Amino acid sequence: MFLSWLKRRRRRRLLAQPFPDQRAEILGHNVFHYGHLSKSEQAKLRDDLRILVAEKNWEGCGGLVMTDEIKVTIAAQAALLLVGFEDEYFDMVQSILVYPDAYVAPDQTITKGGVVLDGDSHREGEAWYRGPVILSWADALAGGRHEADGDNLVLHEFAHQLDMQNGRSADGTPPLATRQQHDRWQEVITAEFHRLERDCRHGRRTLLDCYGTENMSEFFAVSTECFFEQPTDMLQHHPQLYDILRDFYRQDPAQRMDSPGQGSAT
Ligand SMILES: [Zn+2]
Repeated sequence: MFLSWLKRRRRRRLLAQPFPDQRAEILGHNVFHYGHLSKSEQAKLRDDLRILVAEKNWEGCGGLVMTDEIKVTIAAQAALLLVGFEDEYFDMVQSILVYPDAYVAPDQTITKGGVVLDGDSHREGEAWYRGPVILSWADALAGGRHEADGDNLVLHEFAHQLDMQNGRSADGTPPLATRQQHDRWQEVITAEFHRLERDCRHGRRTLLDCYGTENMSEFFAVSTECFFEQPTDMLQHHPQLYDILRDFYRQDPAQRMDSPGQGSAT
């Protein structure tokens, strides 16, 4: 109780400070999603990213020197997932470890440990249950700068963290508010997963990355990337999947893509 009071007071003080111009410039240069948000969504994202930057342990690995640009660019993309939530700051993630580029990690067996490894032994990112998120800076930056290509490492890894927040290892189902929402989620995500499996097996062109067929957890992470980066296409081609993600994230990115320039990227 006392700790949470202290934490709330610390956060209030932090957010009472003006948002630094340098950070606004970083958002404008490195995080294209920011420019699509409404003014109020931008303000929420700026607040959340400041808390993520201040409260997480940020570590450079493999010779990377941690900078404010790296923290802000990664935290802003992670915070995009939080725009619709109140008081959600990935509490299960204490550390964010960043390598300069894709890194080589020893092979590990993925069983019940709750670790999700992306990119084989030559990895771009990892999300550990009650552990760190590990990212390649080159890929995190590319995801922030490359508009609407459906590929976003930071969204992917932090979606795994949301997936694991219900106290289980990643299974493609994040905590949902109601039983009804849960049933609908299972129905839609299972059907969409099998549809992607069929399409990928037959070599058909797909909006969702075929990496999503690895398992339900990867399907949720890949769908999250698409939802935020290509929402109009998802709404058109996968309306039910779009619906459950809109309900979960409490955001409607297709709607804001239709009315660009609501906010500014400064
Ligand atoms: Zn993954």
